Amino acid sequence: MNFNSLLDEARIAARSLAEAASGAFDPTIRLGVTGLSRAGKTVFLTALVQALVNGARMPAFRAYAQGRVVGARLSPQPDDAIPRFEVEAHMRALTGPDRHWPEGTRRISELRVVINFEAASFFGGSRSPRRLTLDIVDYPGEWLLDLALLGQDFRQWSQRTIETSEGATRAPIAAEWRRRLENLDPSAPESEDTARELSALFTGYLRAGRDDRVALSTLPPGRFLMPGEMEGSPALTFAPLSLPAEGEAPSGSLWAMMERRYEAYRSHVVKPFFRDHFSRLDRQVVLVDALAALNAGPEAVADLENALTDVLSAFRHGRNSWMSSLFRPKVDRLLFAATKADHLHHTSHDRLEAILRRLVAKAVERAEFGGAAVDVVALAAVRATREASARAGKEELPVIVGVPEKGERSNGQVFDGEEEIAVFPGDLPEDPEVALRAGGYLGRAASEEGGDLRFVKFRPPLLVKSGEKPPQLPHIRLDRTLEFLIGDALA
Ligand code: GDP
Repeated sequence: MNFNSLLDEARIAARSLAEAASGAFDPTIRLGVTGLSRAGKTVFLTALVQALVNGARMPAFRAYAQGRVVGARLSPQPDDAIPRFEVEAHMRALTGPDRHWPEGTRRISELRVVINFEAASFFGGSRSPRRLTLDIVDYPGEWLLDLALLGQDFRQWSQRTIETSEGATRAPIAAEWRRRLENLDPSAPESEDTARELSALFTGYLRAGRDDRVALSTLPPGRFLMPGEMEGSPALTFAPLSLPAEGEAPSGSLWAMMERRYEAYRSHVVKPFFRDHFSRLDRQVVLVDALAALNAGPEAVADLENALTDVLSAFRHGRNSWMSSLFRPKVDRLLFAATKADHLHHTSHDRLEAILRRLVAKAVERAEFGGAAVDVVALAAVRATREASARAGKEELPVIVGVPEKGERSNGQVFDGEEEIAVFPGDLPEDPEVALRAGGYLGRAASEEGGDLRFVKFRPPLLVKSGEKPPQLPHIRLDRTLEFLIGDALA
């Protein structure tokens, strides 16, 4: 253990003591919300806060269903240096006259919700008033994948990244960057122009992997796609190199320059995030756009599984020496949630859950995970569709009905953002293994032109306001999610 990590440890210990002292009478849960870009973090967190503050139909959230949640309100957040999660603006976007999805997460943000509740009384006595403080931290899942970098030096990372780019789906999108890489001598003199060019090509490859048609689950460095406050910073101007198996970087070389920046990224970006933010979380929900991966096919699914394994390894308790010297994760509940389940008929919700359960189980095995309680759920934080049935010949087909976003296309038709359509979403297979091997489930509602298999994007639901009360957002299984994440603290 070096001096730096001792200092890190001391800082965490001091903070934990202070947190423990202040939390003795007023328990606080620090809940992390993460997931890759477009997984649904912003929508989820907005819906969750709305449900707590304004209410929702939540039979599976027991304290709430039993009438023991007296009220919940927003309160000033504890960390002045973290941007606030702008829940009001997101809610206005979702429910305003020109209802639309809010802008997604691009950086870390925080919000505090104070829940007043009555503890359950076991012997028929009076219920005592209590308070739970919920600090919610929303951050890009891309940053979590950076943990893998802490265990790899520049050579190992370069090698692994180049190898991964050779997969069947990745190879075509990596081609331009790889061609440039092959014509490059790592021992050539350092050059800012080359560094910039190479890092732009490499970032282009990472970005192309996130297109819906390939739906790959990204590779570190996480800030290349989600730079947060580091947007445009030279610390992000590096890329992997094709290096010899042995030997040191010649001084003044491109190799030495890239290695230095890689190290700077690890110590100035990755470590502070894990030390200052991640290590303080008590509970975590990881949102996963499993439908997008299932729709794109088996390589996207395998890739998602790898990403889940990497995510899970971050929650292992102190197994790995370099990791335990930096921080000790204290997350005791970890929920993986497949989002946007409203794209499916309810008959497939359990199936989506089973698929995610299967993926997570494999990842748990591979990560030798032995820490927190892990569960999975298939949810829609905001339900944009309703169910109906449509007659096709003699058959009654279960369909979902919603308003596609303006400009969305299906079967040659371009939607105007007002008209409602019925879509037969297709069933997920009953056997999760079959689902993991196949793909393209939601393609039936998509455009045939250009082989675009994206599923139709619906607008947020049109809410009918009743009286003066703020509107309640319809959801799928948000109540079960809350029960797992904080139900025990409201007992
Ligand atoms: P983030 O990047 O993880 O913050 O993702 P967002 O919360 O911004 O969600 C990305 C997009 O996914 C949104 O713009 C919506 O189009 C869609 N989305 C997210 N949650 C839901 C949901 O519950 N139902 C539906 N139908 N779409 C959703």
